Amino acid sequence: MKVIMLGAPGAGKGTQAALIAEKYHIPHISTGDIFRANLKEGTELGMRAKAYMDKGELVPDDLTVEILLDRVSKDDCRDGYVLDGFPRTIPQAEVLKDALAKRGEKLDYAINIEVPDDAIVTRMSGRRSCPGCNAVYHIVYNPPGKEGVCDVCGEALVTRKDDEADTVRNRLKVYHDQTAPLIDYYSKEEVLRDVDGTQEMKDVTEAIFAILDGVQ
Ligand code: ADP
Ligand code: AMP
Repeated sequence: MKVIMLGAPGAGKGTQAALIAEKYHIPHISTGDIFRANLKEGTELGMRAKAYMDKGELVPDDLTVEILLDRVSKDDCRDGYVLDGFPRTIPQAEVLKDALAKRGEKLDYAINIEVPDDAIVTRMSGRRSCPGCNAVYHIVYNPPGKEGVCDVCGEALVTRKDDEADTVRNRLKVYHDQTAPLIDYYSKEEVLRDVDGTQEMKDVTEAIFAILDGVQ
């Protein structure tokens, strides 16, 4: 199963992608997590990406596409994957489509999690992320058992630098300008499925699983 997650920053792509990966035994691939891991390790890729990420801009397509194609060529992607945060531009979508076509494959679903902009800013200000295992929490909607500590790996949770209100506003603008056109793109490809992302997390999950199980 090959699935991509669409939606504004903070719509819940990462939260739901982790649950999809667990249920269907496929890797969860987040380009944002790959960039942040590189930054933590001090690689050149990480340094180059940081300049864009800190401003809420997109990392250029050539860099992003290279890391994504490298990642999906790994053995664990043989039976599929869930992509979270990729593609974010039409050229990225075209590269993915061509890479799949070369192998006689195509995407199964583009799950579009719909959340209005005003709800996004509240969500982002309460997001806490684990730099160790990439688990995502929210101080109100999905708090960890012990405040500030990851339930999964015990690391101290952090607030992402790009979750500050001003950067979030720019990320939303970038989303509407460059990423939202993918909704139409995947609708034409006949793989788009819209999900109401304002529901409680478990209800969003249920709606997505119903789609992936072929119930809807
Ligand atoms: P994205 O990967 O799309 O940027 P996340 O999955 O990181 O979004 O979610 C953003 C924030 O919103 C996180 O703090 C997460 O815990 C919270 N969140 C995710 N889904 C919901 C939901 N359905 N209701 C309320 N909060 C949510
Ligand atoms: P995310 O973790 O998905 O919210 O991504 C965080 C940041 O990483 C984004 O704001 C971009 O700067 C960068 N990024 C992640 N994925 C992509 C992508 N597919 N294309 C360009 N930039 C990306």
